[in-house]
Amino acid sequence: MPYSRFFDDAISKLKGERRYRVFADLERDAKAFPRALRHGPERIDEVVIWCSNDYLCMGRHPRVIEAMTAGAVRHGAGAGGTRNIAGTNHPLVELEAELADLHGKEAALVFTSGWISNLAAISTIGDLLPDCLILSDEFNHNSMIEGIRRSKAQRQIFRHNDLAHLEELLIAAGHDRAKLIVFESLYSMHGDFAPVAEIAGLARRYNAMTYIDEVHAVGLYGPHGGGVAERDGVMDQIDVIEGTLAKGFGTLGGYIAAKASIVDAVRSHAPAFIFTTALPPALAAAATVAVRLLKQEQGDVLRAQHQRQAMLAKHALSAAGLPVMQNPSHIVPVLVGDPELCKRATDMLLDRHRVYIQPINYPTVARGGERLRITPTPLHTDAHIAHLVESMADVWRTLGLAFVEPAKILEFKRETDARCTFPEFKRAAE
Ligand code: PLP
Repeated sequence: MPYSRFFDDAISKLKGERRYRVFADLERDAKAFPRALRHGPERIDEVVIWCSNDYLCMGRHPRVIEAMTAGAVRHGAGAGGTRNIAGTNHPLVELEAELADLHGKEAALVFTSGWISNLAAISTIGDLLPDCLILSDEFNHNSMIEGIRRSKAQRQIFRHNDLAHLEELLIAAGHDRAKLIVFESLYSMHGDFAPVAEIAGLARRYNAMTYIDEVHAVGLYGPHGGGVAERDGVMDQIDVIEGTLAKGFGTLGGYIAAKASIVDAVRSHAPAFIFTTALPPALAAAATVAVRLLKQEQGDVLRAQHQRQAMLAKHALSAAGLPVMQNPSHIVPVLVGDPELCKRATDMLLDRHRVYIQPINYPTVARGGERLRITPTPLHTDAHIAHLVESMADVWRTLGLAFVEPAKILEFKRETDARCTFPEFKRAAE
């Protein structure tokens, strides 16, 4: 049997659909971020990174690095096994206490990634609630969709951020049926926020549980970095808050924070928690320092600088006529609308201007919604932003991509919103 043919065919199919992905070979320098070295086939170039989700640069914060190196020297490099086999390393206990406190919950549980925490928690909660109906926002991340699929619960998808549609589904399900509303606080490909307070209000009114993914918001929003629910003063109205340690907190791992009984039930039932090795203690110690720093005044300074650079980048790109998809968050998506052109634009940015941005294509976004997703950080200077704008304008002109007149930005927003229509996106998410 020529087994390799099947794999070659699978790759050819991806290439035919223009969905084959390649990753840049980068060498980050913690002291020089956002500059990095890019190893190419013929030479090594210095590039500026514009697409890191280490949003606040905590991954290179000297105190976080110090905690990780000291933790490794003291406790070793690995965790020594699953918690069932090898117990819980004390730095993980400290991290979970810190996270429970951050979200004002009784307990927290740390997983090996945010992806795993969604898979483990949603599937377990869906299975433990009898005859549960999961109501899921149509733009939910793949990890949440996988969690929903893995549970035996029935699921229904509500139109993105559409409270009337959610209410309709809640009413149809009936007051007494167990219902779990699963949504994100900040949708990272569009950069829009969920109406968290209103969703919590509907949940109360129709007797549903709420599960929020704050992966792109923890560390970044709220007076202590507790996310959008903290910013909006509604953390206590959300049953389960899920987050990552890999973005705003700059390290690795994911978690949920909730009532002790919910956390204990997930800990005791979820295979994706039970049967995999725990996070190394050094990593837990580093994450704890990042969470603590962002709870304090230093967090406010970083959050303010982050927002400033993101808003400046958005305004400068929009003023140059680049089609920025307008939104109120730190994410700067720029629409291309074609996978081939999206890839060519990012290749040209890298080769001609040393600007590194990954193309975002289907199925991460709906077809026709292909875009560049730019994530300014507090360490991107105004000069970096000016260089980005010049570079992108040059690429747009060279490839004959469409510019938008600044006066037409609102109209453009309506068009791009409509582009991500419900059935199209639903198919992309499934
Ligand atoms: N949830 C959302 C909304 C995400 O965008 C991601 C990853 O980007 C995850 C969960 C997974 O988090 P992690 O990268 O920690 O696995």
